Amino acid sequence: MVRTQEQEFRTLPQDTGMPSGGVIVCIIFGVLLFIGLVAGLIIYRRRQAHHHRARPCQKHSGYNRDEIWLKPYVDLQPYEDPSRGVLEFTKELDPSLVNIENVIGEGEFGEVYRGTLCFPGKERIVVAIKTLKSSYSDSTWWNFLREATIMGQFNHQNIVRLEGVVTKRSPMMIITEYMDNGALDTFLRENMDKFSAVQLVTMLQGIASGMTYLSDRNYVHRDLAARNILVSHCLLCKVSDFGLSRILENDVEGTYETKGGKIPIRWTAPEAIAHRIFTSASDVWSFGIVMWEVLSYGDKPYGDMTNQEVMKSIEDGYRLPPPVDCPSVLYELMKVCWSYDRTRRPRFREIHAQLDHFISSPHLLRTVADFDPRVTLRLPSCSGSDGIPYRSIPEWLESIRMKRYILNFRTAGLNTMESVLELSAEDLKQMGVTLPGHQKRILCSIQGFKE
Ligand code: ATP
Repeated sequence: MVRTQEQEFRTLPQDTGMPSGGVIVCIIFGVLLFIGLVAGLIIYRRRQAHHHRARPCQKHSGYNRDEIWLKPYVDLQPYEDPSRGVLEFTKELDPSLVNIENVIGEGEFGEVYRGTLCFPGKERIVVAIKTLKSSYSDSTWWNFLREATIMGQFNHQNIVRLEGVVTKRSPMMIITEYMDNGALDTFLRENMDKFSAVQLVTMLQGIASGMTYLSDRNYVHRDLAARNILVSHCLLCKVSDFGLSRILENDVEGTYETKGGKIPIRWTAPEAIAHRIFTSASDVWSFGIVMWEVLSYGDKPYGDMTNQEVMKSIEDGYRLPPPVDCPSVLYELMKVCWSYDRTRRPRFREIHAQLDHFISSPHLLRTVADFDPRVTLRLPSCSGSDGIPYRSIPEWLESIRMKRYILNFRTAGLNTMESVLELSAEDLKQMGVTLPGHQKRILCSIQGFKE
C-alpha cells in the first residue's frame, strides 16, 4: 500500500471580474518592458547601420537579408527630362561647398578631379568630381545626368557612393566618394604579384557583393570590367561607371565596338554581342573576365587578338587560359561564368557565396590550375608548321601568358617553334625558368603540340 503525504494548497482568491492591483502592476510592467525592448532593438539596428557606413573597410560577412527584397531601380527613358530624375534621386549641392584640387583622370564627359566637400558644421570629406566639359551636346548632357540618377539610387558598400550633383551652374559636376587607389586594372598592373590569393579573392568577393545588389535591383551593368571598378585605401573594391554610353573618339584602344551599339567585345557574353540580350547572366560572363583580369594582375584579356578573332574563338569553344598561378577552384568558377548557355552560368549570389567559402577555407586555393592546351585559346590567325599553332616563340609565350620569358628563350638561342619541342624541365631551369608552376605550364603547352 502506498501512503500519500498530506500537503497544503492555497487557492487563488475568487475571481471578481476585475484585475487586482498586483495584476495591473504586472500588466504595466510588461507593457513597459515590451516598449523598452522594441526601442532597444531600433537603436541597436540604427547603430549597426551607422557602424557599417562609418567603417566601410570592415569585412562584410555574408549578405544582408533585407537586401533580398530590393526595389527595382528606375531608369530614365530617352524622352524624359533628366532634370526630373536628378531632383528625385540626387542631392543638388551648393558649388561653394565644393573645392576642386587636382586632375586625376579623363572621363568620357570631361576631366575628373580630386577635391573636397564640406557641409556646414560637418567634417570636410575627400571626393572625386566628374565635370561636364563646356562644349557638351544634348546627348552628352543627358547621359551625364542619367549616370548620376542611376548612381543616386544605390546604397551599398561595394557601389561607389554619390555625394551629390551640381547642375544649376557651370561646369556641371557629379560628386562621388574618393577612392584612393583608383581604377582596379591600373592598380593591379602597378602592384604586380604583391597580393596573396586570399587578398585577390577578397577583392573579387567585394565586386560580387556589389553585383548581387545590382542584379537584385534589376540593374544590368553591361560594362563590368576591371577598368570600371575603383579601389579604396584598404583594397575595398566598388563598382562604378553606370550607364554605358561612351563616345568613341575617347576609345583609343578599340575596347568598344560600334556595330549594333557600343559593346566592350572582350568582356561581353556571346548572346549580348550577337542578339543584344543583356541580362544579369551576361554580367556574370563579364564577371568571369574580371576574375581573369584580377588573377593576371591587369593583363589584357585575349592579348593581341582582334575583336573579330575573339568572337570567332568564343564561338569555336575556346576560352581564356588560366592566369599564371591561378588557383584551380577560381579557374573552374571562371569557366562556368563563360558557359555558352546563359542559363548554366551561376548567379551573383552563388558566386559571392563560393568566394566567401574560399576566403574562409584558404587551403582550397592552394592547387594551381593546370594549363590545358586543348581547351585554351589559340590565335585563329596563326598558322605554324607541323601542327604547331604559333608562328613564333613570342606569339606562343604571349598566348600562354608567359611572355616574361621571351628574353630567356632568345638568350638560350631558341628562335623557332621547332626548337622548343624537345625542351625538358631541366633545360627550362637552366634558362632561368625556375618556378615549377611556370615550367609545368610551358611543358604542358609543348606536349599539346605533339598530341
Ligand atoms: P570612361 O568612359 O573612360 O570610363 P568615365 O567618364 O566613366 O570615363 P571614369 O572612368 O569614371 O570616367 O573616370 C576616369 C578616371 O578617373 C578613372 O579611371 C579613375 O582613375 C579616376 N576616377 C574616377 N572616379 C574616381 C573616384 N571616385 N575616386 C578616384 N578616382 C576616380
